[in-house]
Amino acid sequence: MTRRVALVTGGSRGIGAAVARRLAADGFDVAITYRSAGERAAAVVKEVEAAGGRALGVRAEAADPGELVAAVERTVRELGRLDVLVANAGIAPCGALEDVTLAEVDELLAVHARAAFVLAQAAARHMEAGSGIVFIGSSLAERVPYAGWTAYAMSKSALVGLTKGLARDLGPRGITANLVHPGSTDTEMNPADGPDADEERRHTALGRYCSPEEVAAAVAYLAGEGGRAVTGTALSVDAGVTA
Ligand code: NAP
Repeated sequence: MTRRVALVTGGSRGIGAAVARRLAADGFDVAITYRSAGERAAAVVKEVEAAGGRALGVRAEAADPGELVAAVERTVRELGRLDVLVANAGIAPCGALEDVTLAEVDELLAVHARAAFVLAQAAARHMEAGSGIVFIGSSLAERVPYAGWTAYAMSKSALVGLTKGLARDLGPRGITANLVHPGSTDTEMNPADGPDADEERRHTALGRYCSPEEVAAAVAYLAGEGGRAVTGTALSVDAGVTA
């Protein structure tokens, strides 16, 4: 049987690494991208291989469209096909509205919104019926319970329209496009013992952080057989922060 191939951006740590491990456990060959954490990406590659899959680590700056397209092309060339794209790489600068610079706004839009578009466009050229695209958004695209996150929320909200548009563009070819909105998730970006963690927990219905593995489980559902009829939608894994 032909093995399915996934490309996960920002797979060197956090949610992306958890998605790579989970898809490997589900029988995928997995390519991951990273920006600077080459050794950590190599460790994730080894974990995927230990699970029985083929794996590939590719350095690709998410703000550079050429590097993103090259990562897609290299995945197809070396792993043979592309069934699932998970656009996850992200950054989380925050701060008072008056301090936000245009350079920060441009970087957020490039890394989150433009990168997702470029990756989806490049991936779609290679995808066949039964393939799927999953974007990692944020609960802050749905509800912003604290000040200081305006530009980040704006950059993640763009993924809502992108997801719906792609669902219509690619649906006739049997390709799905969906969005997973994590809430506070215990990673280096937002550690569960960080200075703002107690306030973040207070805003959730469950009173806790999510784990990267819980977010990865939602991605695995959308990427797997069970999610074949789901497209153009957003799935929140946020401990009820948007409830
Ligand atoms: P993380 O632990 O900081 O990991 C970020 C990943 O993205 C790393 O693999 C990093 O690569 C990569 N990356 C960052 N900037 C990049 C760039 N410019 N080009 C290429 N790769 C880049 O973050 P995380 O918590 O797992 O977040 C993953 C996604 O979930 C992000 O889109 C984030 O916005 C979203 N999210 C997170 C939370 C949360 O509470 N953690 C909540 C909602 C949404 P290197 O390791 O090489 O730097």
